[in-house]
Amino acid sequence: MTAADEDTDFAEYGLFIDGAWRKSSDGRTTERTSPSDGRMVGRYARADVQDVDLAVAAARHAFDDTPWATLAAPKRAALLRRISHLLLECTDGIGRRISLELGKPISLARNEVVLTAEVFEYYAALTLDQRSELVSRHSPSALGLVLKEPVGVVAMITPWNFPLLLLSWKVAPALAAGCTMVAKPASATPGGALDLATVIQDAGIPDGVFNVITGSGGEVGMALVEHPNVDKVAFTGSTEVGRTVMAAAAVNMKKISLELGGKSPNIIFADADLKQAVRNAYWGIFLNTGQACQAGSRVLVQREIHDEFLAALVEMTKTSKVGNPLDENTMIGPLVDEAQFDTVMGYIQQGIDGGGVLAVGGKRLGGDLAGGIYVEPTIFDDVNPQASIFRDEIFGPVLSITTFDTADEAVCLANDSSFGLAAAVWSSNLDTAIKTAKKIHAGTVWINSYYDAGLPFAMPMGGYKNSGIGRELGREGLDQYYETKAVHIRLAKD
Ligand code: NAP
Repeated sequence: MTAADEDTDFAEYGLFIDGAWRKSSDGRTTERTSPSDGRMVGRYARADVQDVDLAVAAARHAFDDTPWATLAAPKRAALLRRISHLLLECTDGIGRRISLELGKPISLARNEVVLTAEVFEYYAALTLDQRSELVSRHSPSALGLVLKEPVGVVAMITPWNFPLLLLSWKVAPALAAGCTMVAKPASATPGGALDLATVIQDAGIPDGVFNVITGSGGEVGMALVEHPNVDKVAFTGSTEVGRTVMAAAAVNMKKISLELGGKSPNIIFADADLKQAVRNAYWGIFLNTGQACQAGSRVLVQREIHDEFLAALVEMTKTSKVGNPLDENTMIGPLVDEAQFDTVMGYIQQGIDGGGVLAVGGKRLGGDLAGGIYVEPTIFDDVNPQASIFRDEIFGPVLSITTFDTADEAVCLANDSSFGLAAAVWSSNLDTAIKTAKKIHAGTVWINSYYDAGLPFAMPMGGYKNSGIGRELGREGLDQYYETKAVHIRLAKD
């Protein structure tokens, strides 16, 4: 039950349970207006607890009673590759849906689909290269097998900012491991997950393996987390909700992985390639309108290059093309909704009140953009490291800059945070860069890049401290979907 009108861009979706589209049990729906111009772009079934039971039952049945969990690796890899190919064929359609719901610039939204296809391709390859361990030399009369088995039914709860890509970080390894799943995408941007359901079905994944329910996090998200027939919860979202999810999952000791918030430092030493550092600092904060968990929202710049760095970054920021996300040239789109807008404007006011120097931006955009939720890309300089704009995750296009003199001071400033998701270090001296990277408490550190050093999915990603538990992507991301079984074998004496 999906229907999209190409003329109006309006789409209607049901719940995807056991290979079929259906209404919610009580017929409720929710709607989504585009943050770029306020027009209605989608209507979605609003699930309740009964629908959660149905979706979990479908996933449970597919895991317990069908050959899915034990499918041979070459067949499983072929299915994952097929998903990847079909996604590439749907790049324009799914990219447009993401752009309409979220306000993400269309080029970035299409790229999200392409990256998602690469994630499935990556895990297709890993599917063919899964091994278990043999413990053979501990005793002459015993052998140990360390087996990996799929963890079971997985509840996947995801945020609105990368609605397809972040779900694929869970779905692809879960399919590779042989799990079944129920996805609960964010209410603001469910279209990507629902379109993925069509792709997954067309690829030939059996009914019941992948299910999607849409509805409120507090209601159906929590019902999934508490459900006795769910074995694992894979959650990406805010640290606050992550804590609630962790506490609820403890009741029947579900396995959990949590990808949470961040306030990532971007450290720029005086000997860095300034042009590259400026460009990456710009995209580090303003990509996806600053609505990215790994956003480089704190720049720490060495004092002797501060003025030159700031001038170049402000110049680049002033030339940003902010506007209609469906325009191919748009660099920065609107914020996701008015609530996020209020949060961002509240922090901008706190930045001004707290004595930070507003170097550029700070206002809502009007004129042609008055019908959307647009904020100027904003930079505060000379920010006190104790200020809220330096410490809290804002999740918007607001950068805080401060200076340091020595490498030790930079590391102290970087680590003085309750988060530990990501960081970057810029220096032409690899010794300085690597020593600094090793001292930073974060799950990802880029050297002389931000976001992309050319190793997209082979590297694990996740957080220290309040930024989460567990890792996604890479081999570690696959391990999240396995239980480990130790088989002890006593051999007959000679
Ligand atoms: P959020 O409010 O925590 O919501 C995330 C998901 O949880 C949504 O699907 C939401 O559903 C659901 N949810 C809300 N309350 C729930 C509850 N009580 N029980 C179960 N599920 C519940 O986060 P967001 O605003 O969508 O996303 C922004 C946050 O995600 C930021 O903090 C960002 O840093 C973080 N994030 C982290 C990563 C990472 O990889 N570390 C990546 C991206 C984003 P509804 O939409 O229906 O409320």
